[in-house]
Amino acid sequence: MDIGTILQKKEFDRDDIITLLSVDNPADIESIRAAAESVLLSECGDAVFYRGLVEFSNHCDCDCHYCGIRKSNASINRYTLSMDEIISSVKWSAHRGYGSVVLQSGERNDAGFVDFLAGVVAEIKSATVSEKLPNGVGITLSVGEHSRQAYERFYKAGAHRFLLRIEASDPKLFASIHPSAQNLERRVNCLKTLRQVGFQVGTGVMVGLPGQTVENLADDILFFREMEIDMIGMGPYIVHKSTPMGIHADYFNQRKDKIFQTALLMIAVCRLVLKDINIASTTALQTMRSDGREMGLRYGANVIMPQTTPAGVRKNYLLYDGKPYLDDDAKLHHAELQKSIRSINRKIAVDSWGDSERAIRRSGR
Ligand code: SF4
Repeated sequence: MDIGTILQKKEFDRDDIITLLSVDNPADIESIRAAAESVLLSECGDAVFYRGLVEFSNHCDCDCHYCGIRKSNASINRYTLSMDEIISSVKWSAHRGYGSVVLQSGERNDAGFVDFLAGVVAEIKSATVSEKLPNGVGITLSVGEHSRQAYERFYKAGAHRFLLRIEASDPKLFASIHPSAQNLERRVNCLKTLRQVGFQVGTGVMVGLPGQTVENLADDILFFREMEIDMIGMGPYIVHKSTPMGIHADYFNQRKDKIFQTALLMIAVCRLVLKDINIASTTALQTMRSDGREMGLRYGANVIMPQTTPAGVRKNYLLYDGKPYLDDDAKLHHAELQKSIRSINRKIAVDSWGDSERAIRRSGR
């Protein structure tokens, strides 16, 4: 079936998705991009939602083969921001109209971490109540796998969204990029638990992993659909040289352009298939191209996560090489972002939690 015929459909099957993800001529790519943008505008509108990103700790008990802050990487300085430092970053975001923040860290399951984070969430909620945000900022957590009890504490403290990326929905591919102690089934069960606890749930994958096929990517999208997820944070695979997957630097460098294009197509096809969810245009896209984040928005994304981690520790939170804005002045970054979003004719949502249309419909609001 040709691309034009597939794009007329309302529902897409696995073969359709594989065909859409396999295109490589500019005219077909543009048709898919334009169709995704049209679905975005009709289902979600033209708003771009900000989430001020605070990478509050780089301590991690896991050893993902691709990640620069993995437990076994002894070459980085470990840090955890204090409550005051986190609140200060969050207030910076709230004062600039970012209605939501993401608190991200490595994965730690000890009671001390859970206590600390539950306390931080509760403090942020009370510290950011204002006329514009009567219930404080919206809080998304991205802190990995935890027990149901821990998730319940975070939710009761006031967090209402949780991002837990699976990185690959194919068990073999997942196993190839993680140590045997980490398994896909447990991660999927965490996603189910998060939903049962009440969170709006997000997940995502890396695009361009060694050994990954277009069928794997199609199955990732079908997994998102089956799990009825509310948001996706997804980006190109980028090598970190001080990891076991650092040996793939040549593989990555030889395929950079193709990986970047496929990551954009994944955003577009997710928008076509899943329609009313939130999709982030991630920093990893911008790492590969200076206009990568704007490109992500033009392919159907509607969320941006500006860096608000204190500049002094950003260089210690490198999940991959080449991450931008390590020493950047946050004010300049903010101004540049406003300008680039307006340049693609999109509107910036101010003082909004920015929940996905899907989550809003599900909750009956
Ligand atoms: S990807 Fe996340 S869980 Fe894995 S090592 Fe990095 S910070 Fe830890």
